Amino acid sequence: MIHYRNRLGIELIDLHIHVGGAVAPHIMWEIAHKQGLKLPVKNYWDFWKLITATDETVNSLEEYVDIMHRWTEKIQSSPEAVERCVYSILAKEYRSSNVNQIEVRFNPMKRNKGGEMDLDHIIQAALHGMDKASLDYGVKAGLLFCLAREFPFELNEIIVRKAIKYMSWGVVGIDIAGPEKHTFEQDPDFVSYRKLFAEARAAGLGLTVHTGETNATGPTSMRQVLKDIKPERIGHGIQAVKDEALLKELAAAGTVLEICPSSNLQTKAVKDIGELKDIIFKLKEFGVKFTINTDGPYLLNSNMKKEIELLLQNEIMTEEELRAAFDLARQVSFIK
Ligand SMILES: [Zn+2]
Repeated sequence: MIHYRNRLGIELIDLHIHVGGAVAPHIMWEIAHKQGLKLPVKNYWDFWKLITATDETVNSLEEYVDIMHRWTEKIQSSPEAVERCVYSILAKEYRSSNVNQIEVRFNPMKRNKGGEMDLDHIIQAALHGMDKASLDYGVKAGLLFCLAREFPFELNEIIVRKAIKYMSWGVVGIDIAGPEKHTFEQDPDFVSYRKLFAEARAAGLGLTVHTGETNATGPTSMRQVLKDIKPERIGHGIQAVKDEALLKELAAAGTVLEICPSSNLQTKAVKDIGELKDIIFKLKEFGVKFTINTDGPYLLNSNMKKEIELLLQNEIMTEEELRAAFDLARQVSFIK
């Protein structure tokens, strides 16, 4: 008999999970030591605290992103490390929660030591880790490359070119991530981004964008993303609940929000369970499509099974609604 590992008794799918927040601390610890990295802590338990978001260390999106920037991206910056990390994420999601389809995302240019390492080696190592996990666990997987809000256009352009180059190897989409204080409104070259995203779409890549996660990218930024990029999916997008007209636009366009409950609670993008409930109820009321995802399960000390429990126990979603959300995730996955 198959042990389904989650209350819904079905195989699950995760569309929004970052390599920088999803690798077990013991694996990160071993990689750091293997590479001889100088760490500011002397034992594993202090290291765990260093790379896990707790109420003591993380109370905002900036602090959350900072852990990735300062530690996980640095530790993952070699082909060998990237391969092991991607492999372990897919394997662990399958073992912990029976997630059998996963789109895992990362920025390869935040893993090549500022250009010291060859980008193609980093990318091919990630693809190799993905292939190996697919073979060992039978999971279906695809890679998404994250452009960075804080990068100059030229670097993001290279990431898109690489994504197109590696489509036949298993790169299925692109995303924009990074600190939300860098918004499109501040980018004088946005015309270039429109062209770049259009090129990615024409090549067949799926498009998703982190926006509307905190106040920094509220409804105005979300509208701009919808108008200029027209992504099939949006990472988070929860700020839309502040603007009913926008909720109607999202519902009409069929844009799918990738909701990450534990992540939003930890970064205080959502202040408590009550607010999370209000957000989800509002999305349901307006017919806005959404999926449930983990974002950074190890950084958040969570997994997909716990996300489901959180929503069921607090009567935010029913089992039936959750099953429908995972069905939708399969329909809108960039993995064909
Ligand atoms: Zn994210």
